[in-house]
Amino acid sequence: MALMITDECINCDVCEPECPNEAIYLGAEIYEIDPLKCTECVGHFDEPQCVQVCPVACIPLNPQFTESHETLWQKYRRLTAQAGQEAAGAPAASPQG
Ligand code: SF4
Ligand code: SF4
Repeated sequence: MALMITDECINCDVCEPECPNEAIYLGAEIYEIDPLKCTECVGHFDEPQCVQVCPVACIPLNPQFTESHETLWQKYRRLTAQAGQEAAGAPAASPQG
């Protein structure tokens, strides 16, 4: 599953730079996690890094994004392949194809 940030977040800014997938961003009021980018840190670390550093423990599993370990691995591989393409200067996917 992806993780999510609850409204107990105090906007301390600590988790955002720790995410290896750049899935955490400042939303309208509090920090948020893009569930399409969060792999629970699978592929990068043994434990979710944001959970490790959050001082108020407000980052539970997101029940709307139930994913198996294998699915998280596939997401990790997809994300790293995308990052590799962008690093190589490949144009981002566009609606025109
Ligand atoms: S669990 Fe890992 S990948 Fe997911 S938001 Fe937290 S730091 Fe990022
Ligand atoms: S570490 Fe926790 S409290 Fe701080 S910004 Fe992230 S989710 Fe919010």
